Formats: sequence, structure tokens, C-alpha cells
Amino acid sequence: MRTWRNQLSPAEVSRQQTRLRRLRLGVLGWLVATAVILICRSTGLLPIPIGQQLALHLLAALFLLGLYLLTHFNLNLRFRDPSLTLPHLLFGVFIALWVISHAGEVRPILLLLFSMVMLYGIFRLRAAAYYGLALTVSSGLALLVAYEILTDSLSRPLKLVSLEVVIFAIVMFWTAFIGTYVSRLRQSLHQRNRELEEASRRLKHLAHHDELTGMVNRRRLLTLLEQAQQKGTPFSVAMFDLDHFKRINDRYGHGVGDEVLAEFARRVERELRGEDQSVRIDDSITEMGRFGGEEFLALFPDTDLEGALRATERVRRRIQEAPFATSAGPVQCTTSAGVAESRAGEPLKCLLTRADQALYEAKFDGRDRIKSEPPGSPEGAD
Ligand code: GH3
Ligand code: MG
Ligand code: MG
Repeated sequence: MRTWRNQLSPAEVSRQQTRLRRLRLGVLGWLVATAVILICRSTGLLPIPIGQQLALHLLAALFLLGLYLLTHFNLNLRFRDPSLTLPHLLFGVFIALWVISHAGEVRPILLLLFSMVMLYGIFRLRAAAYYGLALTVSSGLALLVAYEILTDSLSRPLKLVSLEVVIFAIVMFWTAFIGTYVSRLRQSLHQRNRELEEASRRLKHLAHHDELTGMVNRRRLLTLLEQAQQKGTPFSVAMFDLDHFKRINDRYGHGVGDEVLAEFARRVERELRGEDQSVRIDDSITEMGRFGGEEFLALFPDTDLEGALRATERVRRRIQEAPFATSAGPVQCTTSAGVAESRAGEPLKCLLTRADQALYEAKFDGRDRIKSEPPGSPEGAD
């Protein structure tokens, strides 16, 4: 059977769970109210005919089951307020009025049932709905009393009953006032919580990413390198540096230099994470980040020197093959890179130094090329 858990966003699933939790609380409220009614009935002070009472419990059970099913199958989401708090409370008011219409002496005690109904609104109701509910409850009682006056069936002195109606209305409106206040407080806390979550998500992203290129930053790269090292399987790195980047800055300005860096990142990511899966070995995902300035580092997990060289060469060609489109027009740019494969037990610093030395050689040999150190020979270069 398909349930709503399969169809909704995680945030909506969590909201639906909260609604179901609240509904369970509501059901508990109904059980407490039922117990109160049964206690009153057992004293003989609440003479509701047994058939009517059974019908009342059945109606309430069906109503609650309906609310539960609507929420469980997401049908509640079609309503403006998916918590369905107002219909739930109006139904409660209707039942409570019906119960107190049978109560004589015991009515002042049973009026407390309305406090339970009003209290439930704190979860959700906005001011207008809350005051509307207070008005419905108060006028319900007033109409009931008016009917009793007209039919001469008042069981207590008129003065006492009138006072009861007035005080009851005051208490209901006061509950609506405080309830609205708490409800607003809850909603603003909820909103602030969401903003905090979003801010912390953005901070986390900023802590791990470079703003200009959107790539992971040096700190994140070092963490990823440590993780690759802890895994214990060989991996490779490639240190890229843009060729004569100072000239680009000097000729076109820093702004255009920044555009070139961002475009470089885009091209590299497309090349390394594109449709071509040959870069991936054992399904490991290549991670490339900005190591600093115009230097970038690629991490090839579970990849030997040969595989890393192939991927790095492809990146070099992709950068060189077409000028970069910038606001100052097309800018030609090339990159050099030094590649090194990890050695068992070697500190990361040494691995990066080897890649850096290979990069230096690539620059020395004329730029726009890749150099590497064979894994077994600390001195050698290809
Ligand atoms: P080489 O081929 O030897 O690498 O020459 P190069 O001109 O690229 O020399 P180098 O790597 O030493 O110069 C890097 C320049 O990159 C210096 C610095 O001003 C510039 N740079 C570093 N970070 C940024 C940045 O975020 N934006 C821009 N526009 N320039 C940057
Ligand atoms: Mg540099
Ligand atoms: Mg450079």
C-alpha cells in the first residue's frame, strides 16, 4: 500500500507527522471528556438517554477516524489549513453544547469541557478563528439558555444562569486572547527556527566551498585527502595552476581574472564529472577544489598514476581547446599540472610536495603540460 511517506518532501512528511501527533493528543482529549461525561452520568445528574449517548460516541469516533484517514492519506493537504483544527474544534463545540443541553445542576461543571476545546486551538488557530470560536461557544450557550427561558424549562434561577452565560463568555474570549498570543509566539518561534536552519545550512556550505568558483575549498580538500588516506587504498592527486594568470589580470583586470577562474572551474567539473565514466575507477568520484589563488587540486580516489594522468590530460586539453568567454571578450588560457600517486605510510604533506614539484617541472618545461613522478621513485619524473 502506498502511504504519504513515499510521496512528500521530507519537510512535508515531518509536518504530517506533527499533525498526526496532535491528532492523537486530540483523541486523548476526547477520551478525557468522555470519562467526564460518564462520571456525571453515573451520578444520575446527566440524564442523557442511552441511545443518544451511544450515537454521540459513535459519531465522535467516526469523525476522529475520518480526520485520521484524511491526514494519513494526505487528503488533508487539499485544505487551506491541513491541520483541520477549526473543523475539529467546531465539532467538539457542537458535541459539548449537545451534552450540556441535557445537564441541569451539573451544567456549570460541564462548561469546563469548553476550556478543553479552546485550549486545543493554541496549536494552530489564528486570531479571527479563535475569536470566532469564542463567539460560537458563547452564543451557543446563550441560545440554549434563551430556548430554556422560552420553553420555561430553566432548572436554576434566571439571575444565576444569566451570570453564568456572561462570565462564561468573558472566560472564553480571554482564552481566545491568550491562545492567539501563544499561537503567534509559537509561529514566530517556528519561523525563526526555519531561518536558523537555513542560515546554518548556508554557513556549512560556505565553510566547505569557495564562493567564486563554487568548488570545495582547501579545508574541505584536506579533509577529503585525509579520508582517502585513511581508506588505505592508493589514490592520486593533480595540482593545477593556470599559466601566466598574472598577465590576464594585468591585461583585463581582476574582474575578468575572476571570470576566467569561474569558467575554469565549470569546464573542469564538466570534464571530470561528465558523461564519460572513464575518469571514475571503482565508482569513486573525483573531487576537484580550489586549493588557493589560481591553484586547483583534483583528488582521484582509488586511482593509480596512469588513470590520474589520463584524466588530468583531458582537463588540460579542455582548457586549452577554446578561449574563455568573458565580459572583455574571448580570453585564451592554459593550465599546467603536476600529478602524484600516494605511497603507503607517506604523510599528505609529502604527497602534495611531490605534486607541486611535478607542477614546477611542467612550468619549467614551457607550461600547458602535465608532469608526474612515478610512484616508486622519489626522484624521477616522466
Ligand atoms: P605561472 O604560469 O608561473 O603560474 O604564472 P602566473 O602569472 O600564473 O603566476 P602566479 O601563479 O605566481 O600568479 C598567480 C596570480 O593569480 C597572482 C594573483 O594576483 C592572481 N590571483 C590569485 N587569486 C586570484 C583571484 O581570486 N582572482 C584574480 N583575479 N586573481 C587572482
Ligand atoms: Mg600560482
Ligand atoms: Mg599561475
